[in-house]
Amino acid sequence: MIVIFDIYIYNILMSYKLMGIKIDGESFICSLDHAFNLINDDKVSQVVTINPEMYAQAETDIEFKKVLQKAEMIVPDGIGIKIALKIKGHDVERVPGVDFARTLIDWCAKNNKPIAIIGAKEEVINKAVENLKKEVENLNIVYYHNGYFDDNNEIYEKLKESAPRLVLVALGSPKQEFFIYNAKNILPPCLMIGIGGSLDVWSGTVRRAPKIFQNLGLEWLYRTICQPERFKRIFPSIPKFLWKVITYKEDK
Ligand code: UDP
Repeated sequence: MIVIFDIYIYNILMSYKLMGIKIDGESFICSLDHAFNLINDDKVSQVVTINPEMYAQAETDIEFKKVLQKAEMIVPDGIGIKIALKIKGHDVERVPGVDFARTLIDWCAKNNKPIAIIGAKEEVINKAVENLKKEVENLNIVYYHNGYFDDNNEIYEKLKESAPRLVLVALGSPKQEFFIYNAKNILPPCLMIGIGGSLDVWSGTVRRAPKIFQNLGLEWLYRTICQPERFKRIFPSIPKFLWKVITYKEDK
């Protein structure tokens, strides 16, 4: 929210086109404000927290690119996206998915909005739900399920019955984005967001990078040091991505 001479202007959300995909956001708080409106909206909205690996996926997977193009809001999660937008002349604040989702949970608890959580291993989601219930007063989790299921329709049915206003989906990308996209015509109004490894963090299974890494935008470096197998996944994608950003003609 922005206040100018006592006039309250809600919901000013800038959008920037980055290689054919619209990224929304100016600041963390602006994105949140917009998400709160989407939670109250009368349709299902998909929120994507994008990073360079998802761009790489969209390049080879046209269906995934379509999902991204149809999302109601895409926020700049990875530091690579922030740098890319900076190269294009736009200074935006990063919106780390794990913090964004956690703030949405707090808001839902305060505003009496039921939530649902899907994803991660059984013991991880159980522990994450237990921790969240302890930490967040008045939290109303109407449904949760681990992320290892064969039939999406069974989960959609449960979501339909429990009618949450916020659905957090942690199946990793692109699986979570497809799961959400396919739910759009089935579920009652709600905001659905892919939250990647957030349940691993909230359950205490994976430690978040120390604040110094987070503030410097180097959370990816910390995660790579802790899980060296991530190096292969992250390293070629970021420099490749930035090179493409530099050479891409946006009107193409
Ligand atoms: N996951 C899941 N079902 C699957 C595949 C993955 O629930 O079929 C979960 C996995 O247990 C983990 C999360 O999805 O909790 C993915 O985490 P990852 O670190 O890959 O996500 P990122 O944050 O890197 O997108």
